[in-house]
Amino acid sequence: MKFDQSGVDALMEITARPELVFVRGEGSWLEDHTGKRYLDLVQGWAVTCLGHCPPALVEAITEQAKLLINPSPAFYNQPSMDLAKRIVGASCFDRVFFANSGAEANEGAIKLARKWGRVKRNGAYKIITFEHGFHGRTLATMSASGKPGWDTLYAPQVEGFPKARLNDLDSVKALIDDQTVAVMLEPVQGEAGVLPASKEFMGALRELATQHGLLLIVDEVQTGMGRTGKMFAYQHSDITPDIMTLAKGIGGGVPLAALCAREEVCVFEHGDQGGTYNGNPLMTAAGIAVFDTINAPGFLDSVNERAQQLSTGLLALSSKWGMKGERGLGMLRALMMDRADGAAIVEAARNRSPEGMLLNAPRTDVLRFMPALNISADEIDLALAWLDDIIAQVRA
Ligand SMILES: *Cc1c(COP(=O)(O)O)cnc(C)c1O
Repeated sequence: MKFDQSGVDALMEITARPELVFVRGEGSWLEDHTGKRYLDLVQGWAVTCLGHCPPALVEAITEQAKLLINPSPAFYNQPSMDLAKRIVGASCFDRVFFANSGAEANEGAIKLARKWGRVKRNGAYKIITFEHGFHGRTLATMSASGKPGWDTLYAPQVEGFPKARLNDLDSVKALIDDQTVAVMLEPVQGEAGVLPASKEFMGALRELATQHGLLLIVDEVQTGMGRTGKMFAYQHSDITPDIMTLAKGIGGGVPLAALCAREEVCVFEHGDQGGTYNGNPLMTAAGIAVFDTINAPGFLDSVNERAQQLSTGLLALSSKWGMKGERGLGMLRALMMDRADGAAIVEAARNRSPEGMLLNAPRTDVLRFMPALNISADEIDLALAWLDDIIAQVRA
């Protein structure tokens, strides 16, 4: 197949993309328009959590498409209720609102917290978020994010998102005033370079929030659905958040997201929240297939085994190359390098022949790994061996 330049010219330019078109995927492998195969350790940023085109997901989508695609959110549909029951059963939350992207789920969380503040806390509306945090690309979620430069990109920002520092409780305390309604964080900051909130910090944050009558919101868009080795990352720290958002992995590759809340927090009244596509049976049927795969006995045990293998392998590469170690939780991991050659390594990995490898560098000196949760032990070994070669080649 030839590279389609006129097709490229018809797309709005929003990012630098390599001149290749992916045409097919299976498990941890992608194939481009020339037939070259790539070992994929990015998986659409932790989205295709069961790899590309997993049979259970393909079957669920195919069967549901034949039955009913979208009766409209003004009516009940069975897959949305079945998926909501599963999420409620596996978590501390009582109710679920489905959305189509992580940003939209987070917008919903922000709205729910502000509404709760109006009803229960005298109009308190500020939500403390964190430096380097990432919550999405709508105006409100960009304002909630702590990405450098985003405060001025589409100014003026949505007001009311003071920024604290991760794992620094005093920095949170210092921002609390009588207008504060919630604290919102990623249990592991993903875009920031895989920075986990410590168990102690999560516990202390929960206590602090309870003391001050604040909601604790966990953005599990990247960390949820088994990514960290538990179904939800907050479960590593034995706390009960008030609100949680999910996206990315929940649909296994299709647009699906969820806003989950405890009963006391569910203060939306009719008309406060909605969306044309929200909770449609095609996407929620896909979500059920993903959920049931992750929730099957033994699945998370094997995720944790593979994560251990990846962690050990990355640590060995770090020592061999004089790097700064590795970090992460479960299958969301990062190699902390000693130099800013992340982009060169990503490019060399992609250009490797005859088979390439897809890697991600969220910072110039950090490589992030978000492989399929069901990647095989052999594929991890292969990826580590290739990475070693590529580092040698880039640093030669
Ligand atoms: C990716 C991501 C989002 C945004 O999700 P979209 O589906 O791209 O809108 C929000 N929060 C976190 C933690 C993310 O990783």
